[in-house]
Amino acid sequence: MSATIALAGNPNSGKTTLFNALTGARQHVGNYPGVTVERKEGSYVANGQTRKVIDLPGMYSLTAYSLEELVARDFLVQEKPAAIVNIVDAANLERNLYLTVQFMELGVPVCIALNMVDAAKKRGIEIHGQQLSELMGVPVVPTVARSGQGKAELMQAADKLIGAREKIPPLIISYGEDIDRALAEMEDDIAIGLPNSDYPARWLALKFLENDEQIFGFCQKENPDLFARLETSRERVARHIATTLATCPEAVIADHRYGYIKAIIKQGVITHHLDQDRLFISDRIDRVVTNRFAGPLIMVAVIMALYQFTFSYSELPLTWLEGLFGWLSGIVEATLPDGLLKSLIISGIINGVGGVLGFAPIIMFMFFGIAILEDSGYLARVSFMLDRVFRSFGLHGASVMPFIISGGIAGGCAVPGVMATRTIKSPRERLATLLTVPFMNCGAKLPVFALLVGAFFAEHEAQVMLIITLIAWGGALLSAKLLRSTVIKGESTPFIMELPPYRLPTFRGLLIHTWERTWQYVKKAGTVILAISIVLWALMTFPGLPETQQQAFERQRATVTASASQDHEEQLGAIDAREAEAALRHSIAGQIGTAMESVTHLAGFDWRTNIALVGGFAAKEVVVSTLGTAYSLGEIDPEETGSLAATLAKAPGWNPVVAFSLIVFTIFYAPCFVTVVCIAREAGSWKWGAFSILFNTTLAFGFAVLVYQIGSSGIFGA
Ligand code: GDP
Ligand code: MG
Repeated sequence: MSATIALAGNPNSGKTTLFNALTGARQHVGNYPGVTVERKEGSYVANGQTRKVIDLPGMYSLTAYSLEELVARDFLVQEKPAAIVNIVDAANLERNLYLTVQFMELGVPVCIALNMVDAAKKRGIEIHGQQLSELMGVPVVPTVARSGQGKAELMQAADKLIGAREKIPPLIISYGEDIDRALAEMEDDIAIGLPNSDYPARWLALKFLENDEQIFGFCQKENPDLFARLETSRERVARHIATTLATCPEAVIADHRYGYIKAIIKQGVITHHLDQDRLFISDRIDRVVTNRFAGPLIMVAVIMALYQFTFSYSELPLTWLEGLFGWLSGIVEATLPDGLLKSLIISGIINGVGGVLGFAPIIMFMFFGIAILEDSGYLARVSFMLDRVFRSFGLHGASVMPFIISGGIAGGCAVPGVMATRTIKSPRERLATLLTVPFMNCGAKLPVFALLVGAFFAEHEAQVMLIITLIAWGGALLSAKLLRSTVIKGESTPFIMELPPYRLPTFRGLLIHTWERTWQYVKKAGTVILAISIVLWALMTFPGLPETQQQAFERQRATVTASASQDHEEQLGAIDAREAEAALRHSIAGQIGTAMESVTHLAGFDWRTNIALVGGFAAKEVVVSTLGTAYSLGEIDPEETGSLAATLAKAPGWNPVVAFSLIVFTIFYAPCFVTVVCIAREAGSWKWGAFSILFNTTLAFGFAVLVYQIGSSGIFGA
């Protein structure tokens, strides 16, 4: 039988590329028994010798945090490949060596393929393979998997390892006095209690301290008494570390592994040819920007500045667009005869879609500001700082990015946010993140906020926007905590955060980023929102007033016209408005909205708002377009042809408290339909999709009622 060589490494280090370069067409793809993780094997032939090659799933560590890692580890331990080729991304050496060190601790025959040396070189990074090999004590072969460069040397190095398994002593790293002492005791106990296991005793002890559930299960099955003793030791160490270092054993272990790697790298393994200055400057900037005390203050100031910038610069284009849509309505008003078509175009399309499009300038400036934060590298610092906070709410450092993508600062989208949770290894933290990212202020909620803030808090736009952001975050984190201590209970996993160096954004890059996102917004308004607006317009128009009521209004008009009074115009206008309002109320949507009023009045929402909120489940912008249509169909004041914000500001039943209650409801209520589908798909069950609708809406309603009731009670003198 030919010897097996396994390719192992972090995701995206180039395993599959190398595998293809080695095996060509001699491949076979199947699944690992019982799981849907792909198993790829093939053969490599050189000098008349055939070797079986396996492309293992990507992994960051040998602790079973994910299914892929578990499968890969089981393969290494149980099938004992003759040699392991550890593919390492040369441009991210430090992080990649984290896995290498763990192979060495496991005591398996490993050699390093220092891959992507071409890409590293382009970035000015040169790695001295020889030096690295001597310091680590394993063979190192530089490769470029894409071109096949170095593959023959690599396979020779791997060949030399065949048969060496027994001769390789596991690497022993010191983890500090506390852990070392515990490890030694546990190791002795394991050596006696589990003499014939596939795993080295110290390694098992280490995994125990790292909270590896699969290893717990293994020990419990093989030797329950031993398991109980190990468990006691683990708890004792964990408690001790919690009191002395305020952290957990996993974190201490990870720190020491990185320390070991850093110590090696520092000894001249890497030469940076460019950008040394940039890295240095970055470090200097970070000392201030991510400082424990100054950091959060700077963060709030930066975000506040972003809002200030957005609202002040978008004011002028906002009035232009308003004028444009007013002018369009005017033309249609003057040219088309009264009737359904005119109503569809003015109320359904111009006031509906126009309401959403009208906010494009705000969206554009917001995105421009965010592009600056992102391209400069500041956003990564925000993740870094929030990492600590996130852990205390049962989330993960890796949850920060999905939150920001979903609109953590403003103007993201929960759909890519939900997708981005794939980088979170721990299933519980991933689920908690999935379920809470929809609370962020996505680009679709922005026009709703912009409308209400503009109408009722025009004096303090940026401040109110900051408050909205803080409420969204507070609510999201508290919900995460709630979920993690009830429906998704479980331990946290450690995580290492990287900070890329600062970069001066290029103007071109900023424009492209801004344009891409603004265009998406505009496109959505022109397609999805248009379609939904038309449907909602129809729901708000049909079935129309019954004959008898129409006649009643006709009679009223006739009476006015026949009377001798001076203000015919005004009185007729008032009758028109009453008729329009009656028709809207009688429409399908109006009836639904009215039926809901019995509950929603607790939060200050009338039937028109209810229609808008139901429509908002399709897409949140629809809240604005629906209000636009509803207030245009059921004209409140026929003389008034101002913007929707101006209309709302004057409309009966509206005041700042109602507006704020609606803002709070919009932040928290059911994610839009597409997001729900994504949540269900990513969580692997419709149950979680349904959960997010119910949980979020209940939460939202609770908060909105609270805001409305307290706000209207007069406590704040309002
Ligand atoms: P895997 O996740 O480890 O299987 O990684 P892949 O083989 O899918 O490679 C990830 C990406 O890195 C792909 O886009 C490859 O084309 C690219 N890649 C792989 N090896 C090299 C290399 O040596 N140099 C460069 N520049 N790119 C590489
Ligand atoms: Mg792959």
